[in-house]
Amino acid sequence: MSAQTLSGKELAGDIRRRAREQGRDLEQDSIRPVLAVVIATDDGSTHWYVRSIERAAESAGIGCRVIDLGHDATEQDLAGVLRDLATESSVHGIILQTPLPAGVRTDALVGLIPPEKDIDGANPLSLGRLAVGQPAFAPATARSVVEILEHHRIPVAGRRAVVVGRSAVVGKPLALLLLERDAAVTVCHSRSGPLENHTAGADIVVVAAGRTGLLNGSHVSSSSVVIDVGTNVLADGSLAGDVDADSVRGVAAALSPVPGGVGSVTTALLLLHTVEAARRQSSGMPRDQQQGTPTHSVLHRRRP
Ligand code: NAP
Repeated sequence: MSAQTLSGKELAGDIRRRAREQGRDLEQDSIRPVLAVVIATDDGSTHWYVRSIERAAESAGIGCRVIDLGHDATEQDLAGVLRDLATESSVHGIILQTPLPAGVRTDALVGLIPPEKDIDGANPLSLGRLAVGQPAFAPATARSVVEILEHHRIPVAGRRAVVVGRSAVVGKPLALLLLERDAAVTVCHSRSGPLENHTAGADIVVVAAGRTGLLNGSHVSSSSVVIDVGTNVLADGSLAGDVDADSVRGVAAALSPVPGGVGSVTTALLLLHTVEAARRQSSGMPRDQQQGTPTHSVLHRRRP
């Protein structure tokens, strides 16, 4: 038996198409959605990732402004740029790309991204809104997991879902999105004990720990749907997830690949969020109503 492959490629294409179409609608009102990416590192894989966002934005007709402050930027430098972008009306979405230089407080900086431009859900205000079910931009990676499940028609309501990882950018917001979709959610972390105690009876297992091979076939069952969020760069430069794919594929019902799964959808969602932010900011609606999309799927309507 081999698990079904839950590819993200077709879905990513659908989302990019939607972003392009919505962007064209805005052009009729002379508005061009613009995403600003602030970066302060020499890390090659981060630069590669930002270039992939730039390319995707360009092909979707979305402006992408990369502000590279270099690896020796100070917190003050970064804060200054973020404050400027926050008030610049031609910029609709802002990403502060990690890693940041040593000593720079990420928490202090993400709070400078106004929620209506926080298209990757980094500001704690966005996470708070998500927690209470108010419209907010969820972190794109967390959202891409629920979009992949929905795209492949994997039922979530009433199912037991285990999220491995509790970061503010992936694990926690994902747990909230799954909860919003009526799953029974368990969140695991480095101190929650043997993984199999939690994952063995789960219908859906999402692994977002940044540990190559953390989940293997012995942790799952024949009915498990497994989503691999991990992106680990191996010594030979190749990309691996957190799942031992060969082992899990032989046991589980379905598995998302790395690459070609969550990552491709994440980039597309950043673009769609930027277009939605531009639409809301140009609509004249009050600021507190511009803060992102409802917590249901961006492509499908969950409730009438
Ligand atoms: P992170 O901030 O380092 O958080 C990792 C989480 O995993 C922590 O909550 C940690 O627990 C938990 N963990 C670590 N080892 C564990 C173990 N042995 N058993 C159970 N839990 C364990 O990482 P992140 O930013 O959330 O990212 C997670 C992964 O997703 C990384 O591989 C990252 O590259 C990837 N990612 C992918 C995308 C994409 O678009 N595809 C985007 C963002 C991130 P504690 O809290 O107890 O330390």
